[in-house]
Amino acid sequence: MAEPTALNATIPASTPFVGPERLMREHGLASLVRLGANESAFGPSPHALAAMRAAAEEVWQYGDPDAFALREALMCRHGCAFEEICIGSGIDDLMGLTVRAFLPEGGLALASRGTYPTFAYHVRGYGGHLEEVPYRSDGTPDLDALARAAARLRPRVLYLANPDNPSGAFVPLAEIERFRATLPEQTLLLLDEAYADFVPHGDLPAFAPDDGVVRTRTFSKAYGMAGARIGYAITSRRIVAAFEKVRLQYGVNRIAQAGALASLDDEDHLRAVVAETARGREEYAALARDLGIRALPSHTNFVCIDCGSVGAAEDVLRALLRRGIWIRKPAAPPLDRCVRVTVGTAAQRAAFAQGMRAVFAELPV
Ligand SMILES: *Cc1c(COP(=O)(O)O)cnc(C)c1O
Repeated sequence: MAEPTALNATIPASTPFVGPERLMREHGLASLVRLGANESAFGPSPHALAAMRAAAEEVWQYGDPDAFALREALMCRHGCAFEEICIGSGIDDLMGLTVRAFLPEGGLALASRGTYPTFAYHVRGYGGHLEEVPYRSDGTPDLDALARAAARLRPRVLYLANPDNPSGAFVPLAEIERFRATLPEQTLLLLDEAYADFVPHGDLPAFAPDDGVVRTRTFSKAYGMAGARIGYAITSRRIVAAFEKVRLQYGVNRIAQAGALASLDDEDHLRAVVAETARGREEYAALARDLGIRALPSHTNFVCIDCGSVGAAEDVLRALLRRGIWIRKPAAPPLDRCVRVTVGTAAQRAAFAQGMRAVFAELPV
């Protein structure tokens, strides 16, 4: 019998994301209000849609393995060099490349306990060892504790999402720069900026080549193209060269490349999505106040709502699902008392609000 490798055999089976499609099958639901994956129900820019429709006609062709046009556009947009950009099929893919290229088997990685789960998934999958630091009691990433742990453990890769998922918290520019400066020489900072588009441009660090930092961005969130699977990393030439040796040459499909490129031309659409998202966050915060609970401050397209206890958060999740509303909840303390809901369209938000009011009228929370 063919045997998986010793490493593979040690990996526990896990499902970091149970998809809404499975939930619908298992619960016999014909439709679901999708507010669990921070997708953008506002959809892609009409420019991107037109470009993707046109590219569908050419889908018999492989995509450009260099993603030349898209990298050129990103180079102009971010003021970095062409060779400092790597395109991947989403940040999840680029995270895997980072771990694969920089974390040796048995090597140590560091992250906040309960943060976005794909990093831990790749660390396990490539045979690394993950050390975790708890969030602060207010649910924000604890940069001081991460810096102390990094100084002590000297991890090969340190993962930080900013803005963070699931808290929605944003660490200001000066603090990030201070943090980066404290990291040991051999530590690579994987700075996941999936939600950067929801933050004012001036609040983010400028792009400067740094052999100690990989920054990742995506078209899945503000650009509304999660199903297309496309994102990018900006880092140093040296690190991109390491990624180039092992990345899947045809992993980023042709339709996604065309859509991503066209979406960069539509600033108006992006601005409208970001503005409507800010309004939606306010609505959710007001809803929480009405229900006598609290929404955490968010700089993203989702809001964490503190239900008071883990049990209450689980009850809310289940009761909403029975009503056909899909959200998620953070798994680790202190945020496991919260539910996390995506800012959707006005209609989705209304459905969520109605669901929450009904659930809170019924539940002993
Ligand atoms: C959604 C999300 C991702 C996934 O991005 P893709 O480009 O769709 O793979 C990565 N990181 C964080 C923090 C996210 O919330």
